[in-house]
Amino acid sequence: MPDFQAILEAIYQDTINVSDKGTIASYIPELAHIDKGNFGIHLRTSDGKSYGVGDYKKPFSTQSISKVLALSKAMALIGESTWERVGVEPSGHPFNQLALLEIEHGIPRNPLINSGAIVIADILVSNLKNPKEDFLKYVRELTGDVTISFNKDVAHSEKITGFKNYAAANLLKSFKNLNNLVEDVLDFYFHLCSLEMTCSQLSNAFYLFANNGKCLRNKLHINDKQVKRINALMLTCGFYDEAGEFAFEVGLPGKSGVGGGIVALLPDHFVITTWAPGLNKKGNSKLGMLALEQFTTKAKLSVF
Ligand code: GLN
Repeated sequence: MPDFQAILEAIYQDTINVSDKGTIASYIPELAHIDKGNFGIHLRTSDGKSYGVGDYKKPFSTQSISKVLALSKAMALIGESTWERVGVEPSGHPFNQLALLEIEHGIPRNPLINSGAIVIADILVSNLKNPKEDFLKYVRELTGDVTISFNKDVAHSEKITGFKNYAAANLLKSFKNLNNLVEDVLDFYFHLCSLEMTCSQLSNAFYLFANNGKCLRNKLHINDKQVKRINALMLTCGFYDEAGEFAFEVGLPGKSGVGGGIVALLPDHFVITTWAPGLNKKGNSKLGMLALEQFTTKAKLSVF
C-alpha cells in the first residue's frame, strides 16, 4: 500500500503555491465571494481508511457533482427506463449548451450536463413523495451524516439568474421530455446543485460507486450493473467538454462542479475528493485537476 497521507501532503505542498489558481464561477452571484485560496483533498480507501489535507473539512457548493447522486437515485427508482429520456454520449460542449438539445429533439446527450440533469430532476420530482426532503435523506443515509443540507441562498441565487436553465427546461417541455411544471423541476434542480458538503462527506457519499453499490454503512442502494453504468458515464461525461482531458491526465471516472469540487474514484480501491474553487476555462477546478493527475501518477493507481 502506498503511504497515502504522505502522498496527499506532497501534492498539497506542490500545488498550493501554483500562481494561476483559475477563476471563481461568478455567474452564480452567491458563489462569487468564495476565497480562491481554499484547497483540500480527502481520500477514502475501500478498506475504510480516511486521509485528508488542507481544507477537506470545509463545506462548499457541490453544484454539478450532485447530478451523479441524483442519477443514482433515479436509476434505483425507475431502472433502465431512465435511458428512454436521456442519452449516454459525451456532449463535447459546455454543460449549459442548448443547441444540441434542439437539434436532438429534446433528448439530452447525457445525464451529467444541465439539460440531462434537469430530466433526472423531473424523474425524481415524479417519483419522490417530498423530492427535496427525500433526496436530502438519501444523501444523509449514504454518508451517515445528518448535518448535510442545501444552501437556500445559493439555490435562490441560481433561481434568479439561471436563465439558461429555464431555457433548457422550456425546450425539454416543448419536446415533451418534462412531465412536471418547469418551476417545480427547476426548484428541485437548483436545490440539488446547492447541496453543501465537505471533501470528506463527498468521498463518503460516492463510496457506493467504488463499492458495488453498497454505501459506507454496507447498505445496498444500486446494483452492479447500475454502478458500472454510472462509472462509465462519469468517465466519459463527468467533465463537460474536458472529459477526454481528465481521462488523459488522471485516468479515473469522476465528476466536477463549478463550486470547484471534483470527486474521482477507482472501483474497489478508493474515492478521492478535491476542492479548490478557482476554475479553468472549461469550468473544472484548476488545482483539483493538477492534484489528481499527481495522485494517480504517484500512487500508480488509475483505471488504466
Ligand atoms: N448549478 C449549476 C448550473 O446549473 C451547475 C453547473 C455545474 O456545476 N457545472 O449552471
